[in-house]
Amino acid sequence: MRDPRYDVLFEPVKIGPVTAKNRFYQVPHCNGGGYRDPSAAAEMRRVKSEGGWGVIFTEQVEIHHSSEITPFIELRIWDEDDMPGLTKMADAIHSNGALAGIELAYSGTNGPNLYTREVPMGPMHSPILTFTSDPVQARAMDKQDIRNLRHWHRLAYQRARRAGYDILCLYGAHGFGIIQHFLSRRTNQRTDEYGGSLANRARLLKELLSDARDEVGDSCAVAVRLSLEELGEQGFSNAELRDLVGLHADLPDLWDFAHGTWEACSGTSRFKPEAAQEDLIRGIKQLTPKPVVGVGRFTSPDLMVRQIRQGILDFIGAARPSIADPFLPNKIDEGRVEDIRECIGCNICVTGDMTGSLSRCTQNSSFMEEWRKGWHPERIKPKTTEAKVLVVGAGPAGLSAAHKLGLRGYEVALAEAGTELGGRVARECRLPGLAAWGRVRDYRAGQIGKMGNVNVYRDSRLSADDILGFGFEHVAIATGAAWRRDGIARYNLLPIIIDASMPVFTPDDLMEGQRPSGHVVIYDDDHYYMGSVLAELLVQNGNRVTFVTPSAKVAEWSFNTLEQGLIQSRLLELGVEVRVTRAVTEVKAGGVAASCTYTGRTEDIACDAVVMVTSRLPNEALMGDLKARAEAWADHGIRSVKAIGDAQAPAAIAWATYAGHRYAEELDAADTGDALPFKREVAGLKT
Ligand code: ADP
Ligand code: SF4
Repeated sequence: MRDPRYDVLFEPVKIGPVTAKNRFYQVPHCNGGGYRDPSAAAEMRRVKSEGGWGVIFTEQVEIHHSSEITPFIELRIWDEDDMPGLTKMADAIHSNGALAGIELAYSGTNGPNLYTREVPMGPMHSPILTFTSDPVQARAMDKQDIRNLRHWHRLAYQRARRAGYDILCLYGAHGFGIIQHFLSRRTNQRTDEYGGSLANRARLLKELLSDARDEVGDSCAVAVRLSLEELGEQGFSNAELRDLVGLHADLPDLWDFAHGTWEACSGTSRFKPEAAQEDLIRGIKQLTPKPVVGVGRFTSPDLMVRQIRQGILDFIGAARPSIADPFLPNKIDEGRVEDIRECIGCNICVTGDMTGSLSRCTQNSSFMEEWRKGWHPERIKPKTTEAKVLVVGAGPAGLSAAHKLGLRGYEVALAEAGTELGGRVARECRLPGLAAWGRVRDYRAGQIGKMGNVNVYRDSRLSADDILGFGFEHVAIATGAAWRRDGIARYNLLPIIIDASMPVFTPDDLMEGQRPSGHVVIYDDDHYYMGSVLAELLVQNGNRVTFVTPSAKVAEWSFNTLEQGLIQSRLLELGVEVRVTRAVTEVKAGGVAASCTYTGRTEDIACDAVVMVTSRLPNEALMGDLKARAEAWADHGIRSVKAIGDAQAPAAIAWATYAGHRYAEELDAADTGDALPFKREVAGLKT
């Protein structure tokens, strides 16, 4: 039964002519599938409808071929060819009573048009302001262009309504939509009636919203999504935004506010707490009679209630919390708050969009596999045999496998060498900024703890003899991986020379509590978070730190999690000396030899200790021992032994939770042979 404290979250709220059944509002979010994987994206949204969300949005939908944001894969509403996919998604969203929202986007100064090859347009002549610095400019729109833009929007409104959407939302947030480009003096230096004063800069927004109302009447709500602040000189500030809301308080049926840039709005837990935008949004609701939506990586129902009770928000906007747990509303409704699978704020989901691949989620391994593989975040097919399964190692892979096997009804033993569950997550969540990552362990350990058919054995380091002696029919080896000490990663594919007098530490050493003294060189050829997190740790420890990396940037891959700029700034602010485009090629008695990755010129960097953040090796001794005795398996009743997660091939945590889930799903599945292990959609051919 629902805790009455949370009743307010389940009140219906009117949005113009339509009514949301509750205050849970899944704001638009990318998924790396978009127009390429329409059924996968639709099924992902259907599952959220099943999970109880009151409003569910599409990702950004490009309204016209004259503006698109290749290489990022979103949706399009260019012509009739897009209608089946969009209709399928609206139907999926409606399946359990959610309102379907569509985010209509014209990228303007943000769309390089690499696919359509049309000349981009914006309020003024300007380089295209994407992540990728394409050698493309937008031309300044003339009055006819603006009339055309309004006409294209009208066509999009008609199609969106026909596809079944209840809320049409104009995208003007994150610096990505043309509405923001017109609103901001940075990107709009026009001297006509569309530039200059706020009323002039807001003219396009006013016209587009009025046209929408005119086009769809009372059949759909009309909303707008804006950023709460645009930083930089002349940026569309929070104060100006408040003036705008005051000026056009009644114009849209709903105001949806994103934080600032996408990096700010989707800040990771390392850099942004839950409800980070509260100060920026507080008081705006009092400027308008229309409902207000805001985001903040909300996973705590009490915090959500406070947003409503204090008059900050009308709707709890959520993208990542809805990805990590599509059933978040239902769990609150059913009084199962402890079952919420909380987002850890890692932004692995964002990397799907940034890399043009299908998004994945560290916490919800069924995300974007709902259609492809038929996976579900809450349900899983029942067991087909009475086989007993042994899972060795309780890191993310082992915990996920045991949890999902348990849900299937299998008898499972989970053996962990240490006293603590969680493997790498238990260690990493004690590093600076990564506390929320412990939720990967907490959720799974909590669920397993309630299952009578999953037994957990701590302090149980198993050998091949132990395993053969137990007689489990299936054995999953989830023994994880260890960081290398020999320098091998991407730059050095062979071990480097290391002088025995130089103390060399690995991340595992530091996580186990060892600390170097004096001046430390961190050599990062891993390029994700670990090197920079350890730099913070060692600064806290009082070390002088020099960060050396072959890349041109600190933590280069974290560009995909929207953290790269923040990470590099933080290290510089902490006084870490950053040496980019340098590869450590030798560890000497009093320092390291570092080679310029462009010229090959070598210099010595003096130091007292080295931390190697390079690559990892699977802990495969146990697997090796078992393989060596494969002929004895049958005699001991063993039918399968499989390495999963880091024990098979180390990767980020999301790969390990996925591997555990996959193991459970496929334990008794028939071998698919050469067939693809998932469904996909291939574009229909035209003459
Ligand atoms: P993954 O990310 O693949 O889940 P982790 O390194 O996080 O890998 O977790 C591996 C876990 O396996 C650790 O908690 C470790 O203590 C445990 N482990 C390693 N070897 C054994 C073993 N022989 N018996 C039981 N547990 C083991
Ligand atoms: Fe949250 Fe990480 Fe999942 Fe994204 S990938 S929804 S940030 S847990």
